[in-house]
Amino acid sequence: MSTPHDAMWEKLNLDLDAHAGLLQVLGKFYGDIYMSQTGRLKGMEYLDFVLSEVHGLRIKELQDAKAQGKKVIGTFCVFVPEEIVLAADGVQVGLCAGAEAGKDAAEKVLPRNTCALIKSFVGFKLSRLCPFIESCDLVVGETTCDGKKKAYEIFADYAPVYVMEIPQMKNACDRELWRAEVLRFKDKVEEVTGKSIMAPRLREAIRLVNDRRKVLQRLNRLRAASPVPISGRDALLINQISFYDDPVRFTEKIGHLCDELEEQVNSGKGIVPKETPRLMLSGCPMAVPNWKLPYVIESSGAVIIGEESCIGTRNIRDLVDESGESLDDLLNAIVDRYMRIDCACFTPNMERMDNIVSMARDLKADGVIHYGLSFCQPYAIEAFKVEKALKAADIPMLSIETDYSMEDVEQLKTRVEAFVEMVR
Ligand code: SF4
Ligand code: SF4
Repeated sequence: MSTPHDAMWEKLNLDLDAHAGLLQVLGKFYGDIYMSQTGRLKGMEYLDFVLSEVHGLRIKELQDAKAQGKKVIGTFCVFVPEEIVLAADGVQVGLCAGAEAGKDAAEKVLPRNTCALIKSFVGFKLSRLCPFIESCDLVVGETTCDGKKKAYEIFADYAPVYVMEIPQMKNACDRELWRAEVLRFKDKVEEVTGKSIMAPRLREAIRLVNDRRKVLQRLNRLRAASPVPISGRDALLINQISFYDDPVRFTEKIGHLCDELEEQVNSGKGIVPKETPRLMLSGCPMAVPNWKLPYVIESSGAVIIGEESCIGTRNIRDLVDESGESLDDLLNAIVDRYMRIDCACFTPNMERMDNIVSMARDLKADGVIHYGLSFCQPYAIEAFKVEKALKAADIPMLSIETDYSMEDVEQLKTRVEAFVEMVR
């Protein structure tokens, strides 16, 4: 079936047949997981619309921006400072990596025992399925884990890749390394965009990204209410969309949704009954359209009330200090904020344990499900420490490892249902 966007996708050199198949599967998946929910608020219609146009209108906006001379920069990790891209009048988009559509192509160039997220971004590129990747003037990788680091070497044969080095510890010398990387990134962004980054524009960009973080923090606070006013699936979708939607529009729309949620909370209404077990997710990022585990959990009698994850709290917990006068002050504020990220690629990373426990307490979680993507060593190994910290706080935890395939759904359901019964 032809669509108004076919010519644009053809121009982007997508494999049109495979892409049409992907959109069909995505549409059905979304219908089953999202549209089957009852009691959703009016504000969610915006998210449904954005998702329905994920490869359509948003890509058109990116093409229009490019036609005006703006550059599009794609990222895979919350370490890449969007503030710098915006200050150079660029557009930053998170590249999804949450589906297994290109898995066969990816396994031709990567070992099979590579995490699904890495296989996904390589597979999407090799199979010509992603209009976001094809719109990018630069794709920014990072040396967070070994799998990603080595995969970017392969990816670089197919796309314009630039890699940032991420420190693995948090000593003074690591901060210096990271500061040098932020400055090197600034130079690269200036080179790609042809714009010089000045203090006033950087301050404005910092405010813009902070405002988006603040509205998502507000959403998270509302989820502490009992009964909870929004499903975990919807909240995850909001976080996923935050990575590629226009930041100003997104912040405004989510602000309106939060107003609606606040009314619900004030009138004691929830998306599920008050006694529904409240579970928090913790671990690997769930890139769009990875909704498998949230669906399994919320169809097993529980509700998700928070995500300790990069597509969740890790990306929004800390703000950048906006008060700096000079360009140097503002860049230092960016360096410091991003050094606070508690990804499992750091060692010893004890702050993540503290953050998980306090988040679980603040959100009144009855239990935590630790989610690891198969073959992800940093999160799988750290899960033992997380369980220990939660046990000391008297919060039960279930550790799950899975990938993007649907083969283990029944098995996951059995384990999650048993955990839900245990915490109930
Ligand atoms: S989990 Fe670590 S590597 Fe992955 S997006 Fe988050 S910060 Fe980046
Ligand atoms: S999920 Fe784990 S293995 Fe996969 S890219 Fe992230 S840190 Fe690396």
